[in-house]
Amino acid sequence: MVRTMSEDATPQPKHQGLIVVIDGPAGAGKSTVARRVAGALKLPVLDTGAIYRTVALAGDRAGVGWGDGEGLAALAATMPLGFVAATVAISGRQEVWLGEEEVTDAIRTPHISDGASRVSSLPPVREALLGLQRKLGKSGCVGEGRDLGTVVFPDADHKFFLTASTPVRAQRRHRELLARGGDVPSEAQVLAAMQERDARDSGREVAPLARAEDAREVDSTGATIDEVVAQILQHVDGS
Ligand code: C5P
Repeated sequence: MVRTMSEDATPQPKHQGLIVVIDGPAGAGKSTVARRVAGALKLPVLDTGAIYRTVALAGDRAGVGWGDGEGLAALAATMPLGFVAATVAISGRQEVWLGEEEVTDAIRTPHISDGASRVSSLPPVREALLGLQRKLGKSGCVGEGRDLGTVVFPDADHKFFLTASTPVRAQRRHRELLARGGDVPSEAQVLAAMQERDARDSGREVAPLARAEDAREVDSTGATIDEVVAQILQHVDGS
């Protein structure tokens, strides 16, 4: 049975600001779209994937294995995570900090992508991060992730589920990695890793990647970023 965390978590306080959520698989364009939509609506971005990535990195650093749910949950509850919201407006890039160290790029490697997908499948980790995500977003945000519309903000004002064909998503992720430089896997390797991650994200028991019933599906396969952003803003403004 699929268990959602909203069933066993404490009741969610009604949020205070406008909440727009964009869920979907890796490489669908969520990050870029969320940043642009947030800029237009003058709201902060809540990149929940970055939070799971930081837990994977913190686990690596502290020698806590990516299968150790309790150990990682303890780490997640106390890790000094920092998002620098202002940098999005200036550079389109949101800085992520772990204590005194900027980890914005360190959490985007293929190794940490794999780790984030593993640690995020562990119920104690998801439980430890649920309150944090709600706290960060409740005053208003454009949140992006996998379960924001279903679990984290089930009463969000606007819900979108962004998709794209798997080859297009792999191509985009590969280009992103090339732009970042360093050792870059081939596009075929990126595709294989993405399929593995998609299967794990969609197949896990707790809060799997899923479209909320009341989310609007947006397919970005043949669309430009501008078109996707315009489509989303039109729905937000028009309601
Ligand atoms: O979106 P991003 O690729 O940065 O997310 C990294 C990983 O974190 C995903 O593969 C997914 O396993 C996990 N994640 C999640 N729930 C979220 C956001 C991300 O399980 N809300």
